[in-house]
Amino acid sequence: MSRFARDHRVLFVEEPIHNDTPEPWLDVREDEGVLVLVPRLPAGMDGEAAVTAQRQLLDRYLAEEGVTDPILWYYTPMSLGLSGHLRGALVVYDCMDELSAFHGAPPELVERERQLMARADVVFTGGVSLYEAKRTLHPNAHAFPSSVDIAHFAAARGIVEEPADQAAIPHPRLGFYGVIDERLDIALLDAAAAARPDWQFVLVGPVVKIDPADLPHRPNIHYLGPKSYDDLPHYLAGWDVALMPFARNESTRFISPTKTPEYLAAGRPVVSTSITDVVRGYGDSGVVRIADAPEDFVASVEAALADAADPERLRATADHVLRDMSWDKTQGRMKTLMEQARQRGRAAPPAHRPTPAIHPAKHVNGRAAGRRSGFDYLIVGAGFAGSVLAERLAAGLNKRVLLIDRRPHIGGNAYDHYDDAGVLIHRYGPHIFHTNAKPVADYLSRFTKWRPYEHRVLARVDERLVPIPINRTTVNQLYGLDLDEAGVAEFLKSRAEPVAEVRTSEDVVVGAVGRELYETFFRGYTRKQWGLDPSQLDKAVTARVPTRTNDDDRYFGDSFQAMPLNGYTRMFESMLDHPNIKVMLNTDFDDVRDEIAYDRIVFTGPIDEYFGHRFGKLPYRSLTFRHETVDREWFQPVAVVNEPSEAVPYTRVTEYKHLTGQSHPRTSITYEYPAAQGDPYYPIPRPENQELFRKYQALADNTPDVIFLGRLGTYRYYNMDQVVAQALAVYARLEKEEQQSRGLAAAARAFGSLGAEREVRVAGMGD
Ligand code: FAD
Ligand code: UDP
Repeated sequence: MSRFARDHRVLFVEEPIHNDTPEPWLDVREDEGVLVLVPRLPAGMDGEAAVTAQRQLLDRYLAEEGVTDPILWYYTPMSLGLSGHLRGALVVYDCMDELSAFHGAPPELVERERQLMARADVVFTGGVSLYEAKRTLHPNAHAFPSSVDIAHFAAARGIVEEPADQAAIPHPRLGFYGVIDERLDIALLDAAAAARPDWQFVLVGPVVKIDPADLPHRPNIHYLGPKSYDDLPHYLAGWDVALMPFARNESTRFISPTKTPEYLAAGRPVVSTSITDVVRGYGDSGVVRIADAPEDFVASVEAALADAADPERLRATADHVLRDMSWDKTQGRMKTLMEQARQRGRAAPPAHRPTPAIHPAKHVNGRAAGRRSGFDYLIVGAGFAGSVLAERLAAGLNKRVLLIDRRPHIGGNAYDHYDDAGVLIHRYGPHIFHTNAKPVADYLSRFTKWRPYEHRVLARVDERLVPIPINRTTVNQLYGLDLDEAGVAEFLKSRAEPVAEVRTSEDVVVGAVGRELYETFFRGYTRKQWGLDPSQLDKAVTARVPTRTNDDDRYFGDSFQAMPLNGYTRMFESMLDHPNIKVMLNTDFDDVRDEIAYDRIVFTGPIDEYFGHRFGKLPYRSLTFRHETVDREWFQPVAVVNEPSEAVPYTRVTEYKHLTGQSHPRTSITYEYPAAQGDPYYPIPRPENQELFRKYQALADNTPDVIFLGRLGTYRYYNMDQVVAQALAVYARLEKEEQQSRGLAAAARAFGSLGAEREVRVAGMGD
């Protein structure tokens, strides 16, 4: 603030103070070059009367000081009450939090924010999550994660003298400073303090909005009360680990805690709960340890205490992370954006202000994208993800869409076609549609009629074909028994091995049916399919296949199971039959990314490919399909026969006529051979891959002009219906953005442009 105050006259309007003054008056004091204006109001004056009084005080002061064209800088929309009537050079909304999520937030806050968004020329948000939440509300919003006064906090590295109230507290000390309110995870604090009575928890800061009696009280928790900004490094200096035990609730969803870089500047190891911006900004790169459950939190603190033994390394890491985070740099960037906003405001007379787009004019692929472009959307990938979104954008929002695919057909992996013998087959293996989501079935039903079909699979075990998922028939046939449902339940229970924590795909099955059935049906199949032992795969993989004790032999239990009556490709054709959609096949994204004009990209290919594999390749499993036509009417009794034995190189054989209902004197089948190389068909669910994906996800989060979608774009082992649901959800978001932006455009046209001179900062609640 003081640096800013060198070049500008800065007035900071504080919350009013009520006292026994008979008349409202304005208390003006100077603090580090900033003029702080504190309205003093008679006790009992509140509501509209108080707002009017503040407005008059401000007007009078500005008139006396000759301030005619201020820059209005808002920390909270509530300040519109006292200043909404002012006209100035520029309106800045510095949005620090999702204030409406705070306890006791005034109900009119949301409406006021809408008004402020309509007035603001530029919006700054205090973090990336907040930016994502607000950017749809304003065409010129920018994320400014917290900066840090590095020198101020780095001083802690050299401080040896202890503040008196901390000196007697033994080590190890785990410290937190900040407002103690509903954002703090009190239960976590209590549990960690209970688990480790030898650790001392030091909390610095005011207790606000919660009853101090509700805070945990233990001999090893020390509440030292609020301290000045100047004193904070002195407390930090004496902590072994700095903590951010924030609750994960509405009030913390968008926070980007300033104390993160401050703690780091002080050279402390930091442990935080999984606050989105902390995880993205510091957790993913390992600078801050992240844990939520008490036992994990305690373990992370232990690890952080070990980190503290190497202060040199800690400091070097922190310095590297903080190198671009000074307030000077932030201030410079903000000033540039303000100047640009001011020039734009000058250039356009009020009635002709440019209509805000969903996104500010920006460079896409190095080209200025603000100009009118050929397409509104370039969608990469014509599978379910890309095609559903193309249809919705074209038909629902009248957008012009270019849909491309590197393959010679639409439909992605669900593509089907008639082979040389005239049998309808699936080029990429059997696709059976099943869902519990009625909206998904309803949506697709606009483009196809359905053929009722319930999928049944048999597994070959010692030349016998038995039902999979395991059910009563499977058990009775394999073991020569005649058990009823209860008998089968008892049988499986007697064989199931207790598993303390079900983590892997092995745990799921062994815990349900025991080792023998696991080895018969799952171990070999999975090793072939994934090139990994089930113990190396996330539990979600084999958990897709249920275990039953009754006679139900359907592969899926969903409420809606059917095949598109005339095939998937016909359904996709009908979906994409819209004048706003242009489809280009045999076209790779790289072929067109710099050739064709578009405003926004939807990418449904592999996310790591989009980013040039910069963190390394995400692992995908591939398949080779051997398609055959045999000269007889039927090949096998059901659509799919699984081959769980490792002695057989393929995993399953599909005979399509069972799926499609086609009558034909011959029949076509497909063998599936798992492969490490080839087209990416399956993301491989295991923790290390998820971790790598998260890095790409973080990049994607910072690439707002590109929407990543689908099985490959979001690296999720999704079925078709889940991909459709994901695309519809993204569309719902885009539709909302569009509506807001249209409303915003109307509101923006109603406000005038602004000249420039001085600045008034209007503060208030929540800072
Ligand atoms: P895809 O269908 O993979 O579409 C992505 C498209 O993007 C592809 O066509 C690709 O060519 C294109 N592309 C990628 N990168 C680029 C680029 N750089 N430039 C241009 N184009 C690009 N789901 C079920 O619900 N039921 C089933 O029975 C079922 N069986 C399956 C069987 C197999 C063998 C496989 C592999 C999957 C199965 N699925 C099943 C899953 C189903 O295929 C997917 O959920 C669905 O197809 C995913 O749709 P998508 O649009 O996300 O991806
Ligand atoms: N699986 C198995 N044996 C089977 C069927 C499935 O081991 O007979 C395991 C295997 O790891 C497989 C996973 O369960 O990849 C999920 O099966 P699903 O049929 O859902 O696979 P998809 O159709 O996606 O290939």
